[in-house]
Amino acid sequence: MNTENTEEVKYESVSFVEEILRKDLAEGKNGGRMQTRFPPEPNGYLHIGHAKAIAIDFGLAKKYGGVCNLRMDDTNPQKEDTEYVEAIKRDIEWLGFKWGNIYYASDYFQQLWDLAVELIKEGKAYIDEQTSEEIAAQKGTPTQPGTNSPYRDRPIEESLRLFEQMNSGTMEPGKMVLRAKIDMASPNMHFRDPIMYRVLNMPHWRTGNKWNAYPMYDYTHGQCDYWEGVTHSWCTLEFVSHRPLYDLFVDWAKIACGDDKPLEDNRPRQTEFNKLNLTHILLSKRNLLILVNEGVVNGWDDPRMPTICGFRRRGYSPESILNFIDKIGYTKFDALNEMSLFESAVRDDLNKRAQRVSAVINPVKLVIDNFPEGETEVYMAQNNPENPDDGTHEITFSRNLWIERDDFMEDAPKKFFRLGPGKEVRLKNSYIIRCSENVDECVVKDAEGNIVEIHAQLVPETKTGQENANMKIKGKTIHWVSCDHCIEAEVRNYDRLWMVENPRDEVAAYSKEHGDVRGIDAMRPFLNPNSLEVKKAYVEQWLTTRKPLDYLQFQRIGYYNVDPDSTPEHLIFNRTVGLTDAWKKMNSK
Ligand code: ATP
Ligand code: MG
Repeated sequence: MNTENTEEVKYESVSFVEEILRKDLAEGKNGGRMQTRFPPEPNGYLHIGHAKAIAIDFGLAKKYGGVCNLRMDDTNPQKEDTEYVEAIKRDIEWLGFKWGNIYYASDYFQQLWDLAVELIKEGKAYIDEQTSEEIAAQKGTPTQPGTNSPYRDRPIEESLRLFEQMNSGTMEPGKMVLRAKIDMASPNMHFRDPIMYRVLNMPHWRTGNKWNAYPMYDYTHGQCDYWEGVTHSWCTLEFVSHRPLYDLFVDWAKIACGDDKPLEDNRPRQTEFNKLNLTHILLSKRNLLILVNEGVVNGWDDPRMPTICGFRRRGYSPESILNFIDKIGYTKFDALNEMSLFESAVRDDLNKRAQRVSAVINPVKLVIDNFPEGETEVYMAQNNPENPDDGTHEITFSRNLWIERDDFMEDAPKKFFRLGPGKEVRLKNSYIIRCSENVDECVVKDAEGNIVEIHAQLVPETKTGQENANMKIKGKTIHWVSCDHCIEAEVRNYDRLWMVENPRDEVAAYSKEHGDVRGIDAMRPFLNPNSLEVKKAYVEQWLTTRKPLDYLQFQRIGYYNVDPDSTPEHLIFNRTVGLTDAWKKMNSK
């Protein structure tokens, strides 16, 4: 166990979860061992919230020389699928983590069944034949005790026989359940005879037709942790009130299994932290599945999705995701973090890794009158000024260029530091150019009066390394591509999928106000109808050499990446994030 350094690093900020872990290790709990697990239900793709759980489960195991296993929490065959299992594995690996083993809750179905039989025999569980409505009505409220089921004290033999029947495949779902016999008056509602097993009568994708009755989450999770040897079971705050039940089932499992080691030396310990919750996104696999099924987005990896694969396709790096999670930390209070904070972490990260290129998205032609037709010059453009080791690539200059339409103004005000009559700018990596004072000499218009061509003159000897290279001008540096040396590409500009800051609450409130409307109908009023804008752009030729998911900066425009569907014949780029926070600017206007 690698804990030597932990005492010396005094000012390192660690989360309360990590502090508890350090204390447990220092006290020699669980024999000084450290083992965690990440337990997703394979009923959808992982989202940014899961990345927070992954970061702590795998991250602390790595830091403290322990192990983190992957456990598929597959107790609900209705919604699970192997497609999701494969996607989960892919996403964890992409984030940079390795699991020790892969376990499945379904691996323990027999053990859980045998334990339930044992608990019935010990008088700790019974079969209840009431309907779910009756059971709910008897639960009481947090301030009022519940009522015992009339089946609570039925003979053990009867419960054993009925439990077998529950799994026979002939019993109607809902007809009976197995409940733990705990305390219907407990102030903790989870202790009021919780359900351990229900009848589903459906095959499971791993165990086939063997089981018809399936265990509930609360009856499964702690025992799986215990049997695997998990020492630290981290989960989110909604499980705080489940913890006493988690501990009780572990106690019962230990007694029934005849494990004679003292439990305190060998117990999984549950600690809860706050869920990650961001503005302008809606998490939860159930909700994300609705967006996919309703065609609001193009699949789980649509770059507008808050899934790990969506963020990957969008161009977020694993490091930016993990850095952001580290920055917001782990606390005991639920919070809503600003999406713009996350985006700024992404920008900081991409600034270091993105290759700088030129793309013109809203083009207008610029003709350099004093550069001969048919001639070219080739420059070496730096790939990333933040990282000289990234090298250079070639760009070609010629007489006819594309520049952004916005970079020219016919009636430019004084403070417009781009092109216009009598104005000068530097072309990135190339010359300073100047437009004539005379408007008629610098623009060509079509019949409707739209500018179709701009004319300018280059100022000789102003390239890098030449005599006038350092000539000071008022104008900015603008980007360009050569008309005969560029490629047409598809650019996908994404905006927020949700127009409101807190879609979860808004959707819930709308549903309540409108007669309990569900699913997409409760979501639609808050979805941004313009979350995807597809544009044509002219990009430099070098981009045909870039690979899917490569990180790019379209200079002066934003961070982009190469879409996995992109080919050298049909280039496709996704906008990851703008260079500055457009939303902040808009809201502060
Ligand atoms: P969802 O509602 O999206 O399906 P879940 O909690 O049901 O989420 P699981 O697959 O059961 O998802 O969760 C696997 C792990 O990820 C659990 O430990 C869970 O607590 C954690 N997790 C899920 N959502 C978040 C979140 N928003 N922030 C932090 N951890 C999360
Ligand atoms: Mg779930």
